[in-house]
Amino acid sequence: MKINNLFYQKKFILSFEVFPPKREGNLENLYVTITELGELKPDFISVTYGAGGGTREKTIEISSRVKNGFNLEVLAHLTCVQSTKDDIAVILELLKEENVENILALRGDPPEGTERFIKTAGGFEYANELVQFIKARNNFSVGVAGYPEGHIEAPSLKADMINLKRKVDAGADFIITQLFFDNDAFYNFRDQAIALGIHIPMLPGIFPILNYSQIIRIATLAGVRIPPRLREKVELNKDKPQEVEKYGIEYAIIQIDNLIKNEIAGLHLYCMNKSHPVKKILAELSLSR
Ligand SMILES: Cc1cc2nc3c(=O)[nH]c(=O)nc-3n(C[C@H](O)[C@H](O)[C@H](O)COP(=O)(O)OP(=O)(O)OC[C@H]3O[C@@H](n4cnc5c(N)ncnc54)[C@H](O)[C@@H]3O)c2cc1C
Repeated sequence: MKINNLFYQKKFILSFEVFPPKREGNLENLYVTITELGELKPDFISVTYGAGGGTREKTIEISSRVKNGFNLEVLAHLTCVQSTKDDIAVILELLKEENVENILALRGDPPEGTERFIKTAGGFEYANELVQFIKARNNFSVGVAGYPEGHIEAPSLKADMINLKRKVDAGADFIITQLFFDNDAFYNFRDQAIALGIHIPMLPGIFPILNYSQIIRIATLAGVRIPPRLREKVELNKDKPQEVEKYGIEYAIIQIDNLIKNEIAGLHLYCMNKSHPVKKILAELSLSR
């Protein structure tokens, strides 16, 4: 089913994000995790798209397995990195053949070892161009990325939101946000989006912290603020991974509880290929299905 239709049918959309493992041997572990995530009855599972190499094929393979093997709805991520329009057209055909009906259209990050995104000759410069290209094919529901604190390269949140509007005007059906730890950033982003005439559904992306060094790296790369209280707590326990995970899950629960009280369309959980934190969070919030 197309995800844009899901938003009309259901009051609360629940989704989990997984990524293709780098090592071939870990694929079976991921399928075990997806089996466990499937038991939590998400409305869809999203599968990220690597910056290059074999993980791209893996995105298609895993997306197909989620949809056709696990009978779960899937959202396949797709980026413009190192691809021409013809390359993208081929990937869209492959996804269509696998009954994948939903795509998260992204520009993508610069490939590892490079600092700036450089458009591939015959490819796309920005995600809005990719959205338009996919929408012209009429086969897919298309989601896009939103950044409550502004994209790291954008000169300001306002400038970034004007670019978000370009993606919406190009035909995007829904938005999934980058992780954030300060709900006020999300509420401000949502208000500003509405003021700009953006009325498509928006899923806040929540990242339960499970590991100290991982979260510092991700937040720095993405330009996401870690509130001092949270930073202090995880830093204090950085050598006690179980404590970091326990607190990370508790923090996510508090964040989501507050979001639910503020009329969100649903929730996107960055679950880092692990099911136990998701299970715990849903149970605590009575969101188990
Ligand atoms: C939910 C989510 C999932 C993600 N999944 C993946 C994934 O699977 N694989 C992956 O590699 N990356 C992923 N990313 C990261 C994403 O690829 C990066 O953040 C990337 O740097 C920007 O992608 P975008 O689609 O937001 O780009 P865009 O919307 O194109 O924006 C990129 C930058 O250009 C600016 N901009 C946009 N349009 C214009 C314009 N027309 N003129 C001038 N400036 C413009 C924007 O303000 C922004 O600063 C994900 C991000 C999110 C939030």
